[in-house]
Amino acid sequence: MTQAVILTLLLLLVAAISWWVWRQNELDAADEPPKRDDDARVMPLLRGINFLLSDQADLALQEMVQVARLRSDAIDVYMALGEMFRGSGEIGRAVRIHQNLLARPDIQPEQALEAHYALGRDFHTGGLLDRALRQYEQALEIDSGHLPSLEAALRIREQGKEWLKAEALLCRIERVRGEDAHDHRAFLYAEEARRCWHEEHDRQKAMEYADQAIALDEGCASAYLVRLELLLEQEAPWPEVEALLRRLWQQCRHHAQQAIPLLVKYARYRAASEPFLIGIWRDSHDEGMMLLWLEQLHKAGCDDDVRRLIDATGFTTSSLRGDLHLLSLAGEEAAGQVDAGLVARAKRWRRQVKDYVCAECGVEVREMRWQCPQCHQWGSMRTVNGDVL
Ligand SMILES: [Zn+2]
Repeated sequence: MTQAVILTLLLLLVAAISWWVWRQNELDAADEPPKRDDDARVMPLLRGINFLLSDQADLALQEMVQVARLRSDAIDVYMALGEMFRGSGEIGRAVRIHQNLLARPDIQPEQALEAHYALGRDFHTGGLLDRALRQYEQALEIDSGHLPSLEAALRIREQGKEWLKAEALLCRIERVRGEDAHDHRAFLYAEEARRCWHEEHDRQKAMEYADQAIALDEGCASAYLVRLELLLEQEAPWPEVEALLRRLWQQCRHHAQQAIPLLVKYARYRAASEPFLIGIWRDSHDEGMMLLWLEQLHKAGCDDDVRRLIDATGFTTSSLRGDLHLLSLAGEEAAGQVDAGLVARAKRWRRQVKDYVCAECGVEVREMRWQCPQCHQWGSMRTVNGDVL
């Protein structure tokens, strides 16, 4: 949790409390002269604001707790405090605040809705996904169209790889938003296809879900890759595989190269796919695609193929990143030709460097992911390319 986030939360809390104090004063002013009680409430608030302005978030928090103690019936203040405890990582205290609120007999339905959602977020943040889900469901019992609860529950189903349950929630979100999310749904079906194949070895079901995904979104690379894996697994003739690869490269420019690890993994297709991939390289001169191919071959122990392909295609890198990547692939035979220390450093660099970046939120990851781990967007990962020298 960064200082900036904590300060933002504190500012929100101050806004809530200021409004509440103002409202109380308005109400009090209507019938009686100001009470000393007001001063007692306002002083910690002012001290809190002062600490906030001088960047002392911890002291500001203590003052806010004091404000809440002075008027135990202020549900808004407790809600804001709960947010702040969660924001600063004190999940246990946030949970207690929200549970206490829910136990109050005077709580209104809309307050109960917010408290269930907030408690869900506490558990969610603490990694207690089942308990979080129960709270989101209770919020949805109060308001079946509560979008934040629906979205949070969807995230948990996606995290738990329960793709069909996720899809049911996506339907509800579409109805509330009045928007069509066919591309998101395509990714969920593609994941369900992969699960059917990897976990249940059910080729038929996997094929059906992958086809449904492609029907929903022609550009869903993840679904083409499940189809590809099924073809390679059943040793389909090369022209059939090639037809699928052509479609993949036509429809999914950003992710088509994810087919390469599969083409290298299934050794019987390594030679057959070579002219196809060389053709792609000649058309696109996509450095990242070529490096991915060479690296997969290197990992599969085919260093002879790596050298042969570099010679046959005349592949050279055009960025510092590309140079280092290529250097990291140097095999035993490089001894004598290249500085051994430099190769060792390039290999070390390669083990740490991240290859994919989310086009939505900018987070970088090492392995390709179909869903961004940070912003949860599907299909937003792009290959990181070096600056051309
Ligand atoms: Zn992202």
